[in-house]
Formats: sequence, C-alpha cells, structure tokens
Amino acid sequence: MTSVATRIDLLTGKPAGLPGTAPAPSTCSTDLSANPWDFAPAVSAGYGPGASEDDVVPAGAPAQPVIPEEYQHASAEELDRRITAAKQTLGERVVVLGHFYQRDEIVKHADFLGDSFQLARAARSRPEAEAIVFCGVHFMAETADILSGEHQSVILPNLAAGCSMADMADEDSVEEAWEQLMDILGETDDDGRQTVVPVTYMNSSAALKAFCGRHGGIVCTSSNAATVLEWAFERGRRVLFFPDQHLGRNTAKAMGIALERMPMWNPHKDLGGNTAQDLQDAEVILWHGFCSVHRRFTVAQIDKARAEHPGVRVIVHPECPMPVVDAADENGSTDYIRKAIDAAEPGSTFAIGTEINMVNRLADQHPEHTIFCLDPVICPCSTMYRIHPGYLAWMLEELVAGRVINRISVDAATARDAEVALERMLAALPR
Ligand code: SF4
Repeated sequence: MTSVATRIDLLTGKPAGLPGTAPAPSTCSTDLSANPWDFAPAVSAGYGPGASEDDVVPAGAPAQPVIPEEYQHASAEELDRRITAAKQTLGERVVVLGHFYQRDEIVKHADFLGDSFQLARAARSRPEAEAIVFCGVHFMAETADILSGEHQSVILPNLAAGCSMADMADEDSVEEAWEQLMDILGETDDDGRQTVVPVTYMNSSAALKAFCGRHGGIVCTSSNAATVLEWAFERGRRVLFFPDQHLGRNTAKAMGIALERMPMWNPHKDLGGNTAQDLQDAEVILWHGFCSVHRRFTVAQIDKARAEHPGVRVIVHPECPMPVVDAADENGSTDYIRKAIDAAEPGSTFAIGTEINMVNRLADQHPEHTIFCLDPVICPCSTMYRIHPGYLAWMLEELVAGRVINRISVDAATARDAEVALERMLAALPR
C-alpha cells in the first residue's frame, strides 16, 4: 500500500508529474506531512476544542509542553520500538484506544480499534488501567474521561487533535438557540411531551453533552442515530440536532420525515434564519454544521466509480451530504462499512466514502476485494492525523517515568450532566 504520508507528499509536493491532482480547495488540508511538529506548542497552548483557529481555550485548561526534540528526530522504526517497549513496561496499567481514522503506525499499537461508539464502551471496559491513552480527537477523550473511573487518567497525545465539526456548535450558541425555541414553542406540549428534545452527535464538546443531559436529551453516534431519534420522538414533538446537519438529515429522511420539516438552524441569524411557523412545523431542526472530510464526496465521484467499475458497491458514511447518500448503495458508520466488507463474497468491488486511512487499511486487509476511496484527491482527517507516533511514544514514556501529561479532565458538574446523556446513548443500541 502506498502510505497516506507518501501519497500526501505526491499531491502536495508540486505535482508536476501528476496532472490534474492539485490539492482541493477546502478546509481539508492535504498538506499534512510537511511537518507534524507544526501542530505542537503553538496551537496547543491549552486544552480546548483544539481543531479550529477560532478556538477558545477554557480557563484552567492544561497546557501541552513542547515535544522534546528526541521524539521529533527519532526515526519511524525507533518510535515504533519505543512505543512497544513502553507499553510492555506499563502492561495492564495502560490501555491505548485507537479510532479507525488514525494512521497505521498508531493503530498497530491500539488495544482497541473502533468508532466513537465502540471506543466509548471500551473506555469503561478496562477499570484496572490507570491511564487511557486516546488516539483520536478531543471530544472522544472527554467522553472517555466522563465514562471512566476517577482513578483513571485520560490522555490525548496531542492537544491540538480536535474536530472542526465539533467546533461548529459551541455552548453559548446552542443555549441561545434553545432560549429562542422555548420562547416560541414553550417547554412542553398540552399532552406534557417535550416540545423539543436536544440530540447531540458524539462529535461535540462535553459541555453540549451536558446540555442534552440537563434538557431531557441524548447523545448519538453514526452507529445508533436512528435508534436515538426514535427514542427522542417517543418523548418529544421535535428534535434539535447538532452539530452535523448531514447525519441528522440523512437519518431523519430514512425514517420518512419530509425535508420541509427539517429547517436548518443558522446560529448567526435570529431564529436560526427561520420563521416561527417553520419552527412550529418542524420535526427535526438541523444545526448548520458539517464534517470537512465527508463533505468532499460527490455524486459525480459515484457516477465515475460506477462507469469505471461495473457492479461496484458504493458505501458512504452518513456524514456525507444527502445527495451522495441517496446516490450510494448503502450508508453507515465506520463499523457498518467494515462489517459489510468483511461479509462480502471474494472478488467484490467497493467504492467507499469515508476517511482515507480507514479505506486504505480495509484495502490492505482484504486483498480478495477491490476497495478504493471515492475521492481521488486524498484527504485524511487533518486533526486525527495530528496524533503522530512521536506523541504516542512521548506520552507512554512519561507514564513509565511516573508523569501524566496532556490529561483531559472534564469538570465534575459538566461530567455529571453529560453522563446522563451518554448513558442514554449507550443504552440505545445500533439497529
Ligand atoms: S473526520 Fe470529520 S467529524 Fe471526524 S474527527 Fe475529522 S473533522 Fe471531525
């Protein structure tokens, strides 16, 4: 397999010999392999959402020290050896969780590999571990901290590993939206049901999960979004879904909800840019957020895959825009995609619409199939990519030395309310 880093180099290294492969203009950075230490101290001077340039670092947030030079200059082989050795020394005292979108050099050291739902469960399955090193992004580490024991430290190897989608809904904007909705709709209908049930995607800050816990709401993942919406409609008349408009729209549409009943909430406009009547008629109010990786997939890419690979099976993630999901054969979470490929007849061809590290890994693991990414211009999740093996080696060796750095710690009040919404999520099993 051509490594992701190598392919990024090809695309960003002035593609003279690669006509038509210029980097795509978007928030998705293809210039990731330039220098992993660019995302070290300057942008991670404290723990915050971490991904976007507009982040506000909470008061009292931990600061990440500058990564020592020895990790910056170590070869890939040396880092691999040091990670393995540190893990062996720590034994059961540490558990390493890895998201499917992490690079292979990290995934090979993960004790658990999974999507955010599976990793949330994994975080609480090893109570004997003193440290949970979360190779993912900040909202996942926050969730792990909430669900794990007080004696456990959750460590994010690079504090700059955030999620641009999660940053699109901040607590103040959601509180303001809620106030406006309550002014118009009231808290409960005549029959005592909630007028609005808040549902936050896992890809959101702990503060928003806590908001849902306080207001009779719930957290969902891409694995269990349909079950969660059913749960919400048993309790309330409408759903306020944030931050990902696409997951909300695709899931609600599959449940038979009309698009006219899904107004978008733009946090920069009064009433989110809607009329009071729009909101009265709404069944799902969609926050104006999206994933910069999944938004890149297009119907034209699907048409091209079908023209070039007759019989191809197209599976996309539900964070993709609705026309893409509609044009695909299937859509589902990363775990759904993995299982679909596992279960396929040898010789199948798959075009996949999700993050490239996962697609390349699936292609490697299944030489009996043809598996390729729908997007010809490589686009890893730039923030997941910030977990370089140098950071993992550093964190583990610090643990060996008895020091915990980059600890993610959610305050007690937030954690208590967020846990209410997370426990509801964990009980809402994927269909
Ligand atoms: S793939 Fe998209 S939603 Fe997932 S962590 Fe990256 S930016 Fe966030």
